[in-house]
Amino acid sequence: MNVILIGAPGSGKGTQSRYLIDKHQFLQLSTGDLLRGAIAEKTEIGLMAQGFMDQGKLVPDEVMVKLVESFIDKNKGKSVIFDGFPRTVAQAESLEQMLKKSANQIDKVIFFSIDSELLVSRLTGRRTCAKCGEIYHIETKPSSKGEVCEKCGGELRQRPDDKKEVIGERLAQFEKNTGPTINFYRGKNMLEKVDCAKDPEIVLEEIEEILGLA
Ligand SMILES: [Zn+2]
Repeated sequence: MNVILIGAPGSGKGTQSRYLIDKHQFLQLSTGDLLRGAIAEKTEIGLMAQGFMDQGKLVPDEVMVKLVESFIDKNKGKSVIFDGFPRTVAQAESLEQMLKKSANQIDKVIFFSIDSELLVSRLTGRRTCAKCGEIYHIETKPSSKGEVCEKCGGELRQRPDDKKEVIGERLAQFEKNTGPTINFYRGKNMLEKVDCAKDPEIVLEEIEEILGLA
């Protein structure tokens, strides 16, 4: 089964992704991880990507698509979560073509729907431990030790891109980028919405229902 997850930063997409991996043995395709892996292994695609990055350029769509294609070839028959890909309609079309070659397809596209005010409060309240990376929230998951991490005593910080001034821009960017992709899948009747204002356990149940895993 192939599932695409689309959700703004703070929508809880990462948490659901982990649930699906742990509980239902999904593999996750993360283009960032693939890119780092290919560069580290100095594969042909990795070297190509490195070349663009050395020039300070973005890695172009065709290279990303090649990376994804090699992942799909390697993992035939496994259940895959696509996270962060496709980002554009062109990528969505390429993905459809490459899956078709192995008589495969995207089964569901899950959109993490959330009220933008709630999203802002989720992001602005987030604090990350500078030492171990544990994530807290000033309202919903405060550290029992106040300003420091309850696991390691590290300092809790707000990530620069979780500050209120930047969040509006991040969300606008997200909508601009993903809007056409969402419409593409809606038009193919593949889009399913989950309401991420609910507790993560409930959201997971909804996703399991959609995927027929319940
Ligand atoms: Zn810590």
